[in-house]
Amino acid sequence: MTDLISTDLLQARNLVTEIPGPKSIALMARRTAAVSAGVGGTLPVFVDRAGGGVIVDVDGNSLIDLGSGIAVTTIGNAHPAVARSVQRQAERFTHTCFMVTPYEEYVSVCEALNRLTPGDHDKRSALFNSGAEAVENAVKIARAYTGRQAIVAFEHGYHGRTNLTMALTAKNMPYKHSFGPFASEIYRMPMSYPFRDGPHGGGEVASWAITKMDKEIGGSNIAAIIIEPIQGEGGFIVPAEGYLPALREYADAHGIVLIADEIQTGFCRTGHWFACEHENVVPDLITTAKGIADGLPLAAVTGHASIMDAVHVGGLGGTYGGNPIACAAALAVIDAMEQENSCGRAREIEAIMRARLQHMADGHPMIGDIRGRGAMMAIELVHPDTLTPDPEATGRIAKACHHDGVVVLTAGTFGNVLRFLPPLSITDELLHEALDVLASNL
Ligand SMILES: *Cc1c(COP(=O)(O)O)cnc(C)c1O
Repeated sequence: MTDLISTDLLQARNLVTEIPGPKSIALMARRTAAVSAGVGGTLPVFVDRAGGGVIVDVDGNSLIDLGSGIAVTTIGNAHPAVARSVQRQAERFTHTCFMVTPYEEYVSVCEALNRLTPGDHDKRSALFNSGAEAVENAVKIARAYTGRQAIVAFEHGYHGRTNLTMALTAKNMPYKHSFGPFASEIYRMPMSYPFRDGPHGGGEVASWAITKMDKEIGGSNIAAIIIEPIQGEGGFIVPAEGYLPALREYADAHGIVLIADEIQTGFCRTGHWFACEHENVVPDLITTAKGIADGLPLAAVTGHASIMDAVHVGGLGGTYGGNPIACAAALAVIDAMEQENSCGRAREIEAIMRARLQHMADGHPMIGDIRGRGAMMAIELVHPDTLTPDPEATGRIAKACHHDGVVVLTAGTFGNVLRFLPPLSITDELLHEALDVLASNL
């Protein structure tokens, strides 16, 4: 446990300049002159180092990280075991293309995914570069297996920014605006959103979705239902109990492939290896990325051998998919998560955060909802005692936290959710300090 974090990286919030400092300001000017304006940005600071619970910028400011690079550096940025594994692999070989001359690391990652994902059926995996690419391939596989075309996605869902995944993603701005036409045969269904569903429980909202699927598409035309078991960009929406199992039942009844998009929720983030496990739902296919390799680009589709093997030989792949360095990182991540009991740590972080956020909500009626699981927690901000979203307050609080040296992210269809994704390597002290900063800015 001694080398979770590089020991020379001080675990403290420490601001030595304004945010951003002069070096970051100079780099921002270069960024503006060199990088497409279409690439967004949350904080205007440039990074020098990161690890444990901190990000150190080029001016020497040490910020508390409650973002993990969007749920990616779950075990801690530049985790020493990952850094060692990456270095060793880079010295052996950097690429051959798995489809040309294969290597063991790819197979080992697939074996680990087949073992760790929900269900004890016979499984196969395939590796890709990004979450969106994994989602695209899951759809390809489901269509090939079923011989059907229709894909069901959900309100508030997020699945990526490529053409097919933009079509699956719900929110127009910034993900889809002006980028159409989108892929066809995508159908969007109502999502269980307990804070906004009033008295309607998970089973009832599922029955609306199921009626729509039945009447507007027809169960026998649906290749796949793709859902995030807890929605990420949509605002950490945890569907009400019974919603996911009802979709599982409908998929079973009609031979539909149920795809769990666990790209944000997977790899111990929610206190289980995968968020589906909270409701004992076993998906047919599962997409993973983000937390899988501590920031090295890697993604996967894992599922029933019969579905995964239904694709013709050569139908899946890509030049870089399952790159050996990314695989070496993933193997170190998986090993560290098992050894460090990362799922248990995520639950500890949930306990700390839930209590603190509840205390804040008691004094601030603008906090309409506290939700999430594990180290994936959020607050939804509304005009007091209403359901009316307050994106202005959300943006203001996020900016104030950034100014005070705490990295927080926003989310949600209405832009009114503050989401917290601390690395599991954050100390309790730093987590409390970050929450103190949040409380002081409400
Ligand atoms: C981030 C994300 C994606 C897209 O992953 P990229 O690696 O950015 O392409 C897809 N689905 C979910 C649930 C995500 O959170």
